[in-house]
Amino acid sequence: MIQFTNTEIAFKSKSDKALSKAWWLFKIMASPFLVKTLSGLTKAALAVRFPVAWAVRPTIYSHFVGGRTIDESTPMVRLLDKFNVRAILDYSVEGGETEAAIDAALQETLRTIHNAGKDKNIPFAVFKPTAFVQSEILEKAGGDKSKLTETEKKQAAAFKERVNLLCKTAYDAGIPILIDAEDSWYQDFIDETVEEMMRIYNKEKAVVFNTWQMYRHDRLEHLKKWYERAVAGNFYVGAKFVRGAYMEKERARAAERGYPSPIQPDKAATDKAYDDALQFTFEHLDRFAIFNGTHNEHSSKILAEWMIEKGIARDDNRIWFSQLCGMSDHISFNLAAERFNVAKYLPYGPIKHVLPYLFRRATENTSVKGQTGRELMLLTKERQRRKSKK
Ligand SMILES: Cc1cc2nc3c(=O)[nH]c(=O)nc-3n(C[C@H](O)[C@H](O)[C@H](O)COP(=O)(O)OP(=O)(O)OC[C@H]3O[C@@H](n4cnc5c(N)ncnc54)[C@H](O)[C@@H]3O)c2cc1C
Repeated sequence: MIQFTNTEIAFKSKSDKALSKAWWLFKIMASPFLVKTLSGLTKAALAVRFPVAWAVRPTIYSHFVGGRTIDESTPMVRLLDKFNVRAILDYSVEGGETEAAIDAALQETLRTIHNAGKDKNIPFAVFKPTAFVQSEILEKAGGDKSKLTETEKKQAAAFKERVNLLCKTAYDAGIPILIDAEDSWYQDFIDETVEEMMRIYNKEKAVVFNTWQMYRHDRLEHLKKWYERAVAGNFYVGAKFVRGAYMEKERARAAERGYPSPIQPDKAATDKAYDDALQFTFEHLDRFAIFNGTHNEHSSKILAEWMIEKGIARDDNRIWFSQLCGMSDHISFNLAAERFNVAKYLPYGPIKHVLPYLFRRATENTSVKGQTGRELMLLTKERQRRKSKK
């Protein structure tokens, strides 16, 4: 039976000092008041160009982020390797609103793909589609195309070309590529683009992976229809599953604009849809590769146990488990110790670019949202265990 309770394995990669630092960080994040105040202060400081790096870098940044560059993140990749955990370098820029920003993100993402192609400990490349086009275009191109101006059509086509370049580069480097999911109003055009890529690059196996956010009530059906088209079109489907990171924003926008919320009615419905999607893809492994992106113990455990039950090799390349760097090490390291395929998302980038990511991690980890209690409990347990050994 798969268990995640062994904290010695979970935190083996952390020195006593690093363990203490993590404990303090999660202790601070347990307070919604402190998270709100510190996030507000950081945003205000940034607005007046007051330097924040001295406070952010040694604390939340060093916990959740690999470094400013690929080279700076490499020591973390090597450290994870010692524990059979792989790394996925994620250049964390969001919202490519100018041509210069888009081009810079494109060049850097291409570097991550080439780097992954050379490094046996980096099994995937990844990107956020919003980095490669103005968000307004992404939204409009998902709707009625006849409403696009000529310039907008060109911008939408340029987005597809950039995605194609990334997927082709990954294909040539022999590295599968994950395409993150975004807000629902951007997702239709992303889906359309990713499917085109799958038809080109997934003819022999899953190279291109789309992301399904199972907090959306329409995604299970969406996945099943995608499968039917994959069978008909004879291509493979890389399916990365997540619950979804933008629930509040989705609900607020739907309420404000008066359309039905795309989000499941409650957490139990999201959990069920997530596990159903895992099961559906697991039952069709001849067509799917699964990327299980979750910190949920149950959703991690069931997939591992189905693999054991069905006699699927633990290192079968069609099934991967993944957690974010700095979170749920008890799942990652215990699964890796059991020889399953595990990869940590390791974001990297300059502080000002990764701040939106860090704000999301901080709010997601407050006691109100739920994860912190578990992380703190595990860190406390391990600190006590180490003390009792001295
Ligand atoms: C490797 C990896 C890659 C990721 N990539 C992406 C990505 O590309 N796009 C993206 O959007 N997110 C991404 N995420 C974040 C992810 O979507 C979740 O926000 C996060 O992982 C928490 O969900 P969980 O399954 O880990 O855990 P859990 O703690 O079990 O679930 C929390 C999640 O459940 C859902 N939920 C909570 N309350 C409710 C409710 N009342 N009603 C309905 N649903 C509810 C929300 O999605 C919430 O985030 C990624 C996460 C990981 C680990």
